[in-house]
Amino acid sequence: MSNLIFPALQVPTLPIAGSSDRIPVQRVFCVGRNYEDHAKEMGQQVERDEPFYFTKSPESVVQDGSVIPYASATTNYHYEFELVVVIGKPAFNVSKEEALSKVFGYGCGLDMTRRDLQLKKRAKQLPWDIGKDIEYSAPISAIVPADKFGTPANQRIEMRQNGVTKQDATLNQLIWSVPEIISHLSTMYHLRPGDVILTGTPAGVGAVKAGDVLEGTIEGAGSLKVTIGEPV
Ligand code: MN
Repeated sequence: MSNLIFPALQVPTLPIAGSSDRIPVQRVFCVGRNYEDHAKEMGQQVERDEPFYFTKSPESVVQDGSVIPYASATTNYHYEFELVVVIGKPAFNVSKEEALSKVFGYGCGLDMTRRDLQLKKRAKQLPWDIGKDIEYSAPISAIVPADKFGTPANQRIEMRQNGVTKQDATLNQLIWSVPEIISHLSTMYHLRPGDVILTGTPAGVGAVKAGDVLEGTIEGAGSLKVTIGEPV
């Protein structure tokens, strides 16, 4: 490629558990309100109408073990701990039955959120982008290949803030299951290897402050640890 006048973006990569190979991250999709207790704590009714999504820029992805800065322009920066699904094969208009065959693997992620700005925009029926698409806001663990993880069922998902458990649920509490999400999302996008889906957070979201340590585990899908740094 010749004569680029600025450096092209470099895609972030994620490690694969038990391998020295890495995954180049393509797009980052996030599912909203996908656990009933979390929808309720956000003051929302649960509707089994259809899932909804927002996106984060790929460069919001950061590595396990990182110190991530407290985001700018917020005084209510929240954690949301989530199951991450990485697509491994092209998927467009796939059925629920074939959806899991398109998954490369599973991991742990955080959907860090400027809650004050998200709620302010939501109240005005404006897009939430600045509440969600935040630099350094998507820490993701090493990815466990699907043949080692198995399939999402009743595995425990748990997150601790400074050693205190704040979120504790099982994956069978997902309102929209992983196959349903992939099938539905694949009607909107030609999903491709390296696309990442954060599948929504259980109840117990809350604010962070500089110095906090967030540690989450998902049974069979590894763990993730980040420290909140000083404001940018
Ligand atoms: Mn979320």
